[in-house]
Amino acid sequence: MKFDIGIRADWAVTMAGGKAHVEKNLFFGISKSNIALVSPWKLSLKKSCRKFIYQKNSVALPGFVNGHAHLAMTLFRGIEDDLPLHTWLFERIFPLEKKLVTKNFVKTGTELAALECIRFGVTTVCDMYFYSQESAKVWDKAGLRGTFAQVFASALLPEDKDLGADKEKLFLSLYKKYEKHPRIRPSVGPHAPYTCSDELLRKTAELSKKYSVPLQIHLSETAEEVQTSKTKLGISPVERLSKLAVLSPHTICAHGVHLDNKDIEIMKKSGASIVYNPDSNAKLASGIAPIPKYLAAKIPVALGTDGSASNNDLSLFGAMDLGTKLQKVHSGTTTAMTAKQALYMATLGGAKAIGLGDQIGSLEVGKAADLILIDLQFPHLQPLNNLISHLVYSAQGLEVDTVFCHGKLLMRNKKILSLKPEAIYKKLEIIQHKISKQLGLL
Ligand SMILES: [Zn+2]
Repeated sequence: MKFDIGIRADWAVTMAGGKAHVEKNLFFGISKSNIALVSPWKLSLKKSCRKFIYQKNSVALPGFVNGHAHLAMTLFRGIEDDLPLHTWLFERIFPLEKKLVTKNFVKTGTELAALECIRFGVTTVCDMYFYSQESAKVWDKAGLRGTFAQVFASALLPEDKDLGADKEKLFLSLYKKYEKHPRIRPSVGPHAPYTCSDELLRKTAELSKKYSVPLQIHLSETAEEVQTSKTKLGISPVERLSKLAVLSPHTICAHGVHLDNKDIEIMKKSGASIVYNPDSNAKLASGIAPIPKYLAAKIPVALGTDGSASNNDLSLFGAMDLGTKLQKVHSGTTTAMTAKQALYMATLGGAKAIGLGDQIGSLEVGKAADLILIDLQFPHLQPLNNLISHLVYSAQGLEVDTVFCHGKLLMRNKKILSLKPEAIYKKLEIIQHKISKQLGLL
């Protein structure tokens, strides 16, 4: 058997069978875009490889899956901190987006997000933002994998000035372009129950069903959102989505912070998944999603970052660490969520929750070669008493050394190969000046 690339790893957590289990001295043979062999390392395997990589003292893992992000919002990183969600969103972010978001803004913001994701070992992202064709184009060029949603909302969107308000037409154009793409998936993205009419929600559900694409939506993020829905309509946002046939195994619901037992029962029956965004939920003081209840109900759960304006980064290392600890604090039980569960959500669990469980999320024969190597030679990762614990509670993210996505090498020795970081940083200076001006800081 010949391999395009062979990788020898001193350590590996393949997530095969959903188990976060540490193995020593493994070999991964990659043919084209897929993993063709996983076996104990032996010297004779080296001869079968056109290209061979051995990074001493490193651990191989599946590329991380970020279940919820607004990639281009990297450009809003660090602005408007310390505000509750509704003030932050309606009074600060939406007006800023109206003034600043253009096709070029989205392109540069997504390029920065791609640099960040590769650097942190994130190879798959579910994105929901304006000018989604632009983001998808950047993502494709960067060699990454992602699901890109055409945003739908019952209000004017920043992209309307260039692209018009016919979102179905825009979705169809996105769909046609990426229908058969191996890494980029089109999807529909009704923003949230509180920004979409019943008619619009129904329409997006029909499109998701007809074209068999994911539907991404924010759901029950704050107590206020749920209370307003109950006061105005007499039902919770989950009940409303269920009534409108929006919930299905195609549906990826970001947040799900405030679900009661009735909501959880509805979610369980629907097959829809939830994306846990601990950093964003904590920063916007939205609350703590009852993840142990979702896991007990067998609702698929992914881990996400949300946009960089409410996190403020796209690292799943931070999300695994904080997400686990929040559950312990919230319940007063140390076993409420474990490091192994966090790692599962960031890899195979996340992949299953976003409908890609058969393609990615674990390092197994036949799956796409989305593989990362993490350098363990750092003081905070030694001694190697418990590698899973180190990955979740000690690693910071920048220890990621090598990144493959779909069999292609995107980063080696911490140097990004598929994009030109310097050129992107240069563009950021100009955009940052515009943002400061808009904020009245200049
Ligand atoms: Zn979001």
